Amino acid sequence: MGTAKAELLLLASLAPLLTAQTQDIRSLVDRELPALTAVYQDLHAHPELSQHEERTSATLADALRKAGYAVTERVGKYSDGSQAFGVVAILKNGAGPVVLARTELDALPVEEKTGLAYASRVRTTNAAGQEVGVMHACGHDLHMAALLGAARILAGMKDRWSGTLMIIGQPAEETIGGASAVLADGLYTRFPRPDYAIAQHDTPDIEAGKVGVVSGPALASSTSVDVILRGVGGHGARPETAKDPIVMAAEFIMEIQTIVSRQISPLDPAVVTVGSIHGGSKHNIIPDDVTLQLTTRSYSDEVRKKILAAIERTARGVALTAGVPEDRAPIVKVSAGEYVPATYNDPKLAGRLKAVLAAALGESNVTEPRPEMGAEDFGLFGLEGRQIPIFMLRLGAADPRELAESLRTGTPLPSLHSSLFRPQVEPALRTGVLAMTAMALDLMRK
Ligand SMILES: [Zn+2]
Ligand SMILES: [Zn+2]
Repeated sequence: MGTAKAELLLLASLAPLLTAQTQDIRSLVDRELPALTAVYQDLHAHPELSQHEERTSATLADALRKAGYAVTERVGKYSDGSQAFGVVAILKNGAGPVVLARTELDALPVEEKTGLAYASRVRTTNAAGQEVGVMHACGHDLHMAALLGAARILAGMKDRWSGTLMIIGQPAEETIGGASAVLADGLYTRFPRPDYAIAQHDTPDIEAGKVGVVSGPALASSTSVDVILRGVGGHGARPETAKDPIVMAAEFIMEIQTIVSRQISPLDPAVVTVGSIHGGSKHNIIPDDVTLQLTTRSYSDEVRKKILAAIERTARGVALTAGVPEDRAPIVKVSAGEYVPATYNDPKLAGRLKAVLAAALGESNVTEPRPEMGAEDFGLFGLEGRQIPIFMLRLGAADPRELAESLRTGTPLPSLHSSLFRPQVEPALRTGVLAMTAMALDLMRK
């Protein structure tokens, strides 16, 4: 009884302290906001495609250097040996945990149609030689500006925390490969190995000013699979002399629809999507082969393995049924480079940070959205077997009135990657700065 009373008294004495601190951070965010909004608009107007983040990484690196961080640029090696534009900025402040806070740097080959004054007009040539528009249609510019704000504020209140803050500007998130490139370049050996890794991603499903906390699996694992169904080509008018890979492809596509519906437990989330199919050149020729590109999603590795085995088995089965000779058996290739594990928000860390966010933003501004089947390479920072607890926050970006209207009419708002995606910068940016500051501060609190 006595202890409980003492605890209550202690809590009562702590409460105003917490509020005062939150107020304090809020006024610091207010002070930073005009400059951060300018940084955001500049980044938004100058987007760069994955693996080409030269200007973006330099902008972030300069700003962090000015804020007092020890900055290393061009961190990261891609699997083909080429150099990446990763940024690592370290602020050492005594003994304590190492906290990694990550933002992406890259934009998308999307032509912006928002009509905003600071809309991107950038055009470039992509790897395939096509001219494309470039746009921050995923909001990575918002994440950069928010993290920069938090980095500045934390550098200005070093008396409040103890530990090492490690800011990561990660290239090539959209093409998956940036996180592994940075890790492969000795991120955890050349620089301190983190005790926690945090990040945030904006979403048009939550109104700006609010955030979403998912505990446990938050985003799915993603695996790319290439399937080449090889037949025997011939004249379109003499199908009996050929083994038609177009018909095989049609059968294959329908058959793999049963992987999720019949072969995986309804309680295990899974997706199998055929995203591309190419075969043939003319009306009256049966081609030699058809190439398909698939993406698969799941939370557990067990389900992932089942899906991949089923794809392989189905391809072989279809070829067998068609009577394709053994030396023309289908080729099923699981892409090593285009695999990311599920993003698993450490439940203990998510629970701790949820309370921190509720104190910083107000209880009603912290929601619990559902997990998604989208994928991210942020999970790689936790290392194989979840060695480092990670947490990715969802940052609300929708105009509250537009979101309410969309829920009423059932017409969805422009999604991430849409040419019309337009986050409500105020208060999303303010909320992003507050959230990252509060989370890092708590993890390194004195
Ligand atoms: Zn994206
Ligand atoms: Zn993104």
